[in-house]
Amino acid sequence: MIKQIPDRSRFTPEALKRWDEIDPLIQVKILYHVWCVSCRKGVYINIESARIESNDLNLTGTCAVCGGPVVRLL
Ligand SMILES: [Zn+2]
Repeated sequence: MIKQIPDRSRFTPEALKRWDEIDPLIQVKILYHVWCVSCRKGVYINIESARIESNDLNLTGTCAVCGGPVVRLL
């Protein structure tokens, strides 16, 4: 079930374009399976910023469980 969607205002225009090219079902899988080093498992990421870096889509945010920092490169 999709309870939350990323806040699109936190994406740069370039990052948003890349994100929108990803299938919505894959987007959900990505958002709910970001590795958290503190929890030692895949968690939901609350996105704080999304940008393109070295041609990767870089999602930076916090773990929905412990609030620790998490990053996902695509
Ligand atoms: Zn965590």
